[in-house]
Amino acid sequence: MEQNKYSLVIVGFGGMGSYHVQLIEPSERLAVTGVYDVVDYRKELAAAKGFKTYDSLEAVLSDETVDVVLIATPNDVHKEIAIRALTAGKHVICEKPVTVDSADLRDILEVSKESDRVFMVHQNRRWDEDFLIIQDLIEKKKIGEVFHLESRVQGANGIPGDWRQLKAYGGGMLLDWGVHLLDQLLLLTGSRIDSVTAELSTILGTEVDDGFTSFIRFKDGLTAVIEVGTTNFIKLPRWYVKGTEGTAIIRDWDLSGEIVVNNPDVAKVEPKPIQAGQGLTKTMAPPSEESTLRLPIEKALSTKQSFYDNFVSVIEGKSEPLVKNEEVHRVLRLIETIFEAAEKRAVLKDLEL
Ligand code: NAD
Repeated sequence: MEQNKYSLVIVGFGGMGSYHVQLIEPSERLAVTGVYDVVDYRKELAAAKGFKTYDSLEAVLSDETVDVVLIATPNDVHKEIAIRALTAGKHVICEKPVTVDSADLRDILEVSKESDRVFMVHQNRRWDEDFLIIQDLIEKKKIGEVFHLESRVQGANGIPGDWRQLKAYGGGMLLDWGVHLLDQLLLLTGSRIDSVTAELSTILGTEVDDGFTSFIRFKDGLTAVIEVGTTNFIKLPRWYVKGTEGTAIIRDWDLSGEIVVNNPDVAKVEPKPIQAGQGLTKTMAPPSEESTLRLPIEKALSTKQSFYDNFVSVIEGKSEPLVKNEEVHRVLRLIETIFEAAEKRAVLKDLEL
C-alpha cells in the first residue's frame, strides 16, 4: 500500500477492464497501479496510460506490492484467476457473471475463506438509478403492495461480435445481462421462489442465447417477467410495476416515466366508456383523472457506499459487503434453473431457491 491506497492490478484490460480505471479514479483508498492482459496490444494501451504492465499472471501474483486483483477477462477464466490470486494472498474483485456455474463459485469461496482474503463480485447495477427508484418505491409502498413487475433491457444490435457469442467463454445474454436483472430482482423481495419458466431466444443463430424471457413466481405471490433482447428495433419499457394502489413505469435509462396512483383524498369516480376499435369499453378505459394522481419519477436518495469504498471497508473489517457472495450464488442458481426450464419447456416448482 502506498499513500494509504491499496494497489490494484487489472487482469483483462478490454472494454470493462479499462472502464474500471475511470470508476476507481475517485477512490481515496484504491489505486490502479498495473495491468495484465494476454494480448500485447492491450498491454501497450495500458503502458501508454502510465500503468505498469506484467508479462504473466504469475508476475502479478508474485509482486508483493499488489494488494488487489481485479478480474475483467471473459467469463470462462474468472474461476482460475480468482483461485490463483486468492491463494497468492491477494484480495479479489471479480466481474459478473462471477462464474458460469454455481459450483465453481463455491470452490472460489472455499479458497477465499481458507486464505482469509476478500472476494467480491462487481454487481454494479445494484447502484443503477432506475433500480434504486424501483427499490425505494416498493419499500415505501408508493403504489401499495407490488404484486407484479416486469424488468427488461432490449437492443437491436445482436450479441457483440466477440467471445459473448461463444458457449465455451460463458457467452449468451442470460449470463451477460440476465445476471444483472436477476440480481436486482432478488433484492426487491425477501420471498423465496415458487416457480420458474423461461424461453431462450436464438433468432440470430448463435450457439448461445441472444436473449430470453422468464416468468418467476415468488412464494409471497409476487410475479415477475424478466426479459433481455438483442433483436428489438422498438423496445418495451425498462420497468413496468403494478401495485394494489397504482402502476409505475420507467421507460428508459433517462428515467423518463410516471407513476399513477389512486388519489386517497377523492372517492373513486367511475370511468366513462371509451371508443375502442369497433366497440365501447369501460373495462379498458383509463382510470378517471379526478380519482387518480399522476406523479413524476423522482430520484431515490441513496446513502449507499460506492462499490469500491465498500470493498475497502470490507478488507479492513469495518463493513459488511454490499454484494454478498451468498446472494451472487443464489442468482447463479436461478440462472441454472432458467436454463433448465427453457430446455425442458417446463414450469419448475418446489425449488430450494
Ligand atoms: P473484452 O473482450 O472487451 O475484454 C476482455 C479482455 O480480457 C481482453 O483484453 C482479453 O485480451 C483479456 N483476456 C482474455 N483472457 C485473459 C486471461 N486469461 N488473462 C488476462 N487477460 C485475458 O470483454 P469485456 O466486455 O471487457 O468483459 C470482460 C468481463 O467484464 C466479462 O466478465 C464481462 O461480463 C464483464 N463486464 C461487466 C460489465 C458490468 O457492467 N459489470 C460490463 C461489461 C463487461
